Amino acid sequence: ARKFFVGGNFKMNGTISSVKEIVNNLNNAQLDSNTETVIAPPALYLLLVRENLKKEIGVAAQNVYDKPNGAFTGEISVSQLQDSGIAWTILGHSERRTILRESDEVVASKTKYASDNGVSVIWCCGESLEEREAGKTLDVIAGQLAALKKQLGSDWSRIVVAYEPIWAIGTGKVATTQQAQEVHASIRAWLKKEVSDKAADETRILYGGSVSEKNCKDLSKEKDIDGFLVGGASLKPAFVDIINSNL
Ligand code: 13P
Repeated sequence: ARKFFVGGNFKMNGTISSVKEIVNNLNNAQLDSNTETVIAPPALYLLLVRENLKKEIGVAAQNVYDKPNGAFTGEISVSQLQDSGIAWTILGHSERRTILRESDEVVASKTKYASDNGVSVIWCCGESLEEREAGKTLDVIAGQLAALKKQLGSDWSRIVVAYEPIWAIGTGKVATTQQAQEVHASIRAWLKKEVSDKAADETRILYGGSVSEKNCKDLSKEKDIDGFLVGGASLKPAFVDIINSNL
């Protein structure tokens, strides 16, 4: 069985004081031990969080580079994450794909590099509103997955897939349980056909996009929804209710 997974993506939000408050809140909360929880604060606060957060909760960067070290101004390396006790990174978030213009190939290369070097990856995919309205959702997702597989190959053991329809991110417009389940099932079918039975059985597929303490319970009941990647609500005390949505 796949362990339920809830990630909190803080994006470019927070201060030392607000991040410490979130850490204290999580440290003091009763969390479902059958759920794996990972939070992704801004890079500047990764060490602060890792040093203060209880060890049952993982910490993720929001991005990482695909070279060992050197003249790459502004970037952070996989070995620097490991040196700081950071076992996870998000990669391919739609905000990086669109605003920072990261291509499928760049995202795939960084995912391969992190995974090969021992950092687990929350790899994001998802369609725009225009693509959904044109009936292209499943093709877009399959294209993003194919670009990843081209570089990653058959070992998906360090990958968690997050399906985040762009039109649902930060809009309050959550996908319906049927819309999400349809895409999640198609991702699992793609893994079965293109990678392996093992990858299809074991890879967690998260839903992200306006997840709240109100809608998480219904979504968590869907067969192929193995957890959430939460933005805005991960900054609030109600994040604990989302972590516990599978209880
Ligand atoms: P919201 O939960 O704020 O819609 O953000 C989702 C997201 O992008 C998580 O990575």
